[in-house]
Amino acid sequence: MIGEILYSRMVNEKCVDYAQRLNVYTEIGHALTLEDWRLLKQKNVYFNITFSPGVTSPIEIDIPRGSQLITLDFNTLTNYEPRQRVAILLHEIGHALAPGLVRQEGEFNADDYAIGRGYAEDLLNSLNFAIENYPNEFDKPITRERIQRIQNLGL
Ligand SMILES: [Zn+2]
Repeated sequence: MIGEILYSRMVNEKCVDYAQRLNVYTEIGHALTLEDWRLLKQKNVYFNITFSPGVTSPIEIDIPRGSQLITLDFNTLTNYEPRQRVAILLHEIGHALAPGLVRQEGEFNADDYAIGRGYAEDLLNSLNFAIENYPNEFDKPITRERIQRIQNLGL
């Protein structure tokens, strides 16, 4: 059941292949409950994996207007540890399920989605990795606020 819903969230076969090669496909299936997956289906949340610097993605499913498309970059994700990749996916799912929340509120809410599924430490490690390796994008107050908040949870 989860497998069917998970598969139905991928925009094409290539996306499934990339996710498997990143070791996140089966893992994200297990990280969420069936109820979680039903909600993703109900809220029209989909995944696409790109291949930087550019890729063409044939859309092999019907995606309704207003859907939330979570787009992840294969080449960037390979630099993170597999559990950190799953934490990043979970964070993005958190955004996709609450698109109305923005800035700090949106980031904290998305973090809570990953934390609530047991990925606090991996999320923390991914943020520290991101600051160190992608300072232009991540060496910002919001990233440090997120790190501090996760540390304060004392998990
Ligand atoms: Zn975010």
